[in-house]
Amino acid sequence: MTKTYGPVRALVGVDARFEAGRVSMVLGPNGSGKSTLLAIVGTLARPSSGRVSHGALGRTREEVRAALGWVGHESLCYADLSGRENIELAARLHGLAVDAAFAAARQRFELGSFAERPFRTYSRGQRQRVALARALVHRPSLILLDEPTTGLDASGVGRLREVVREEAARGVVVVVVTHDDGFARAAGDVRVVLERGRIV
Ligand code: ADP
Ligand code: MG
Repeated sequence: MTKTYGPVRALVGVDARFEAGRVSMVLGPNGSGKSTLLAIVGTLARPSSGRVSHGALGRTREEVRAALGWVGHESLCYADLSGRENIELAARLHGLAVDAAFAAARQRFELGSFAERPFRTYSRGQRQRVALARALVHRPSLILLDEPTTGLDASGVGRLREVVREEAARGVVVVVVTHDDGFARAAGDVRVVLERGRIV
């Protein structure tokens, strides 16, 4: 596929396949098209030409989105709700039992007592832990993470590595954009490197 924004060629003739059960790491310099690729795979943007097939994940945008766990540059959390309330809200929207869903999320991302405070009071890393917990609460089959290690401390990065490995072992499609080479090596199975909109 190709994606252009006016004169900007964000993606040029990209042909990629992300397999279930693998963690695919997307790497490349700033502006190389990583976020654009992720947004197109996640149905949040459309390619200018070419197409994306989601296989068994769904044929329509609605089906794919129901299966999607997305963490982009914004947390998508409500600032005046606590971390716990943000996670419980997501769980409720997905029709889950909220207490069990929050307990699992708290353990998974080592959420401390800060989870009871308003989200707007959080440090960068605390925000990221809650954003990840919220996005993965419904056990999605397609996980797309854009620079998810941003702000996380060593223990947070370690937890994230465990989580993406667990999800891949469940047969999930996991695609992670990262600048963290150590994380890419420790958590990834496949590397896709972009440069000026092309896979190199
Ligand atoms: P990366 O995530 O690798 O840093 P992006 O995929 O965000 O790169 O962007 C790829 C290129 O497309 C960049 O040159 C960026 O400025 C441009 N771009 C992205 N989104 C838009 C947009 N909405 N309008 C115009 N240009 C855009
Ligand atoms: Mg980006």
